[in-house]
Amino acid sequence: MRIIETIDEMRQLRPKLAEPVGLVPTMGYLHEGHLSLARQARLENQTLVVSIFVNPTQFGPQEDFRQYPRNPQRDLALLEKDKTDIVFMPSAAEMYPPQFSSWVEVGKVTERLEGASRPGHFSGVATVVTKLLNIVQPTRAYFGQKDAQQAIVIKKMVANLNMDVEIVILPTVREPDGLAISSRNTYLSPEERQAAVVLYQALCLAQKLWVQGETNAQTIRQQMTDLIQKEPLVTIDYVSVANAETLQELDTVKSPALVSLAVRIGKTRLIDNVVLE
Ligand code: AMP
Repeated sequence: MRIIETIDEMRQLRPKLAEPVGLVPTMGYLHEGHLSLARQARLENQTLVVSIFVNPTQFGPQEDFRQYPRNPQRDLALLEKDKTDIVFMPSAAEMYPPQFSSWVEVGKVTERLEGASRPGHFSGVATVVTKLLNIVQPTRAYFGQKDAQQAIVIKKMVANLNMDVEIVILPTVREPDGLAISSRNTYLSPEERQAAVVLYQALCLAQKLWVQGETNAQTIRQQMTDLIQKEPLVTIDYVSVANAETLQELDTVKSPALVSLAVRIGKTRLIDNVVLE
């Protein structure tokens, strides 16, 4: 496994890599969600590149960039075990030199949900993903359904800007009780961790109502809200039942619909989603 820290070195190496090349972009502090992407990319490509970069531009000024958990030594050991060929881990100064001033804006689909709660977030995401795709030039890039809106934004960006890469979206990996695995779960106290299971319960409730024939989106939102509000440690940021492509809120559920939510538990903000098909 090679560890590469500069863009120049990655560029020099790129023509020598066996095709096809799969890229898994991450912010590190790796868990089973990240590793599921890496393993699938390993199966589908001759060369596996995993990037580790805690991207400062996708965090708001009041967000957790500084506290975001980091453990590069552990990450490298996990990636080595999963037969990663190259780990690209640039510094922030390498990715954003002082004169940096170009941003990728994907438009309407970034204004809702996470974009509404986290102004500038998707501009940071789209810009860093563009840079990583330009630097690594993968055949395929792998992302998790866990960040459903991010997946939609990246697919749209790649289509709109004619980027020559296949975007692969893989299912959310969960803890045994249903909580979606996330690096931010480490912020939760034991009581908060217990309370956090209500996210998955609310998504299961939405799925159950839909399977039972409920098509009124507001009824689904309300029932999910009622369930979450029974958990005193959890406050709701949003509960959404939206068109899975445009992210417009629905009156009547039509498949595929994206049911997504964001909550705060203490200082921790968690998101999760399910698609009604
Ligand atoms: P992050 O390090 O949080 O930026 O995540 C890197 C990639 O892993 C993103 O494409 C995420 O959507 C994906 N990911 C994070 N958590 C999970 C999970 N529980 N299941 C599947 N993919 C995930």
